[in-house]
Amino acid sequence: MFDSDFNLRKQFYEESKTRAQLKDLGYANSWTKIPDIVKACEARRHIPEEISWGRCLTEYRCEACGYRYLVDSSG
Ligand SMILES: [Zn+2]
Repeated sequence: MFDSDFNLRKQFYEESKTRAQLKDLGYANSWTKIPDIVKACEARRHIPEEISWGRCLTEYRCEACGYRYLVDSSG
């Protein structure tokens, strides 16, 4: 019981630490142009990690490049 709770907290801590290090590019919907860091990522042929936050909200992140952004597909 204690162990699983501890592991969960540790996991959450590690997760939040990783997230803090990623540059938050906000919503892709609001970009007027693709940020250089994303273009560089595409040029390196990385596949960003895709995290679904709900039916219409998806987070893309590349830990190698150190960024994350959200896409709102509800519109
Ligand atoms: Zn990348």
